[in-house]
Amino acid sequence: MTVTAEREESKSESKKRPALPDRRGYFGEFGGKYVPETLMAALEEFEDVYRKVRRDRSFRAELDDILRDYVGRPTPLTEAKKFAELCGGFRLFLKREDLNHTGAHKINNAMGQALIAKRMGKQRIIAETGAGQHGVATATACALLGLQCVVYMGEVDMARQELNVFRMRLLGAEVVPVTSGSRTLKDAINEAIRDWVTNVRTTHYIIGSVLGPHPYPMVVRDFQSVIGREALAQIRKKVNMLPNVAVACVGGGSNAIGLFHEMVKHEGIRLVGVEAGGRGPKLGEHAARFSGGALGVLHGTRSMILQDPFGQIAETHSISAGLDYASIGPEHAYLQGIGRVEYHDCSDDLALEAFHKLSESEGIIPALESAHALGWLLHNGSSIARDAVVIANLSGRGDKDVPQVAELLSKTHQ
Ligand SMILES: *Cc1c(COP(=O)(O)O)cnc(C)c1O
Repeated sequence: MTVTAEREESKSESKKRPALPDRRGYFGEFGGKYVPETLMAALEEFEDVYRKVRRDRSFRAELDDILRDYVGRPTPLTEAKKFAELCGGFRLFLKREDLNHTGAHKINNAMGQALIAKRMGKQRIIAETGAGQHGVATATACALLGLQCVVYMGEVDMARQELNVFRMRLLGAEVVPVTSGSRTLKDAINEAIRDWVTNVRTTHYIIGSVLGPHPYPMVVRDFQSVIGREALAQIRKKVNMLPNVAVACVGGGSNAIGLFHEMVKHEGIRLVGVEAGGRGPKLGEHAARFSGGALGVLHGTRSMILQDPFGQIAETHSISAGLDYASIGPEHAYLQGIGRVEYHDCSDDLALEAFHKLSESEGIIPALESAHALGWLLHNGSSIARDAVVIANLSGRGDKDVPQVAELLSKTHQ
């Protein structure tokens, strides 16, 4: 397709799809603002300021400068020929979010929100983190911009991710251990919400994925959509066409929406989100919300949620901490419902296989999260045409996962 034809196509197509979320913060029946009354004013202020700065030249210039000179954007688009052969032989390009400062895509959003907090005159930032990646990205943004930073983290996660706890403290953040419930991510989120209710006048809460009450899913998506914008421009330069397939792993869903957002209007691009299949399909053994979940509300938003028959939030499991969450971003639930994006899952074992294969064939150690997208390609690549162009989002680097993989290997070799 010529570039002009493409422009025409995207013009007519963008007319068909309404801009979402709607004014109330819904993507179809998903999303919304399920929060205590005391937070409503803060969410409205956040949305107002966001809508203003989005059109503000000086804000965009400031963010663009930071993304270029500090974060390291644009990230490269790297062809992975040998790994593609292992998958079935299409043309595979990796969007290298692993090369961002702090090692993943999370900094794109943390930096954007920290800049908004500054514009709102809020000097104190809170965040919550599971594996520590979002905590590190937020602590980094706060160090750069001179903001106070408090990160809530479950005690169990702090023990599992000691190095990231130390990193956050080096960056000047206060890391608060959470000792309630299962002492993991969902308890840390509850604690962060409690803090926010108490300190809302001075404090901005930086949510790390396309989750939480409106306007977070929209704001985080917009800050991450730089991934897909760059990828489309880069693939046009390299092969002079749109990709046939784009694939990304889905925890809350921010790296996937980041890749997909500019592609949704191009109906010809097959979009694939990959959830954590964990150890198997039994409730509690995975984090595949679309195959095992049901409609519900968690942490401020209505979406597909893993829950027991009584509506209690289910435990989840994944080899990768970043995909291990009971809910999924509401826009993903919407895109699944209208059939625009397909969702599949990839097991722990297959992700681990892809982790090794990409390392050996390309010299790139992927994050275990990103390895789920690659695992899906390994297993399903033969269904993709040999002349197809595929973009996979390499959401982060695997350095953080090396100790965990080493331990798994030592167990299997005993
Ligand atoms: C946090 C994280 C994820 C999962 O979060 P999304 O919001 O689904 O992108 C994926 N990959 C990496 C490297 C992460 O750090």
